Amino acid sequence: MIIDGKKEAAALREEIKKEISLIKKKTNKIPELAVILVGDFLPSQIYVRNKEKNAKEVGINSSVIRYSKDITEKEILKKINELNNDDKISGILVQLPLPNQINKEQIINSIHPSKDVDGFNPENVGKLASGYHAIVPCTPLGCLLLLKRIEKNLSGKHAVILGRSNLNGKPMAQLLLKENCTVTITHSRTKNLKEECLKGDIIIAAVGVANLVKKDWVKDGSIVIDVGINKMGEKIVGDVDFNEVKNIAKAITPVPGGVGPMTIACLLKNTLECFKARLT
Ligand code: NAP
Repeated sequence: MIIDGKKEAAALREEIKKEISLIKKKTNKIPELAVILVGDFLPSQIYVRNKEKNAKEVGINSSVIRYSKDITEKEILKKINELNNDDKISGILVQLPLPNQINKEQIINSIHPSKDVDGFNPENVGKLASGYHAIVPCTPLGCLLLLKRIEKNLSGKHAVILGRSNLNGKPMAQLLLKENCTVTITHSRTKNLKEECLKGDIIIAAVGVANLVKKDWVKDGSIVIDVGINKMGEKIVGDVDFNEVKNIAKAITPVPGGVGPMTIACLLKNTLECFKARLT
């Protein structure tokens, strides 16, 4: 089975849109997402444009604050402080990467945890790791929602995660532990990666190495979620050799059209959650 991330994301956006419309009727309020974009890095411009478009479609008011690449850290911190104290703002997102003169950690840490729609603030990271309710990074959240469409109960499954980044691998592991999976986290120093992968009822590939996972790395009937986005000539491919693995896996996400659309839909979901938390 090929997991249609576009379709799942459209369904999630529809749910979000309905909920926002209901809340608007009752309160006359809508969520507002502030996006900070620094510099003219083309992929960031494209991501932000897509996020803005998707936000508008579901009824989230989205504004993009643009800075040139020579902006100082102090100026961005001042803006974040303003946004933190602005009651109308439900969520704040700083598009990464940032130029070298800006300390990414300082910026992330300065976003108020209740408006941290990316789930990168240490308070949210710590809550997730402790098993509390937290704002969860959008990509792993999207992966979990896709997995649960295939298999409602993940308890007892062996999940093998390729990659240990703060963005993907680590929060993914926390989410799957919460689902009572047995979790193996692998990385660039892991010995016998293929043997580790072969243990997985679930494989989450988030390494950024094109077509790394081959058919003989995957056991029959596994669910394979491919987070990778890699350029191969003119083509975008994942971390999994899709054409080979699709015949072995029970279900697999394609690249593009798998995890990517869910990531943006989960950003909207997180924005709605932050908005609702401020209403109560
Ligand atoms: P990252 O920060 O570069 O982390 C990559 C991880 O993979 C690291 O833990 C690294 O190990 C590990 N790794 C690298 N090469 C490996 C190898 N040959 N064997 C085993 N492990 C290896 O990357 P990221 O930000 O997590 O992103 C991963 C991929 O997901 C990228 O292709 C990125 O573009 C994509 N992505 C997609 C979405 C989406 O919405 N679909 C969102 C975000 C990212 P070490 O820790 O040992 O270095």
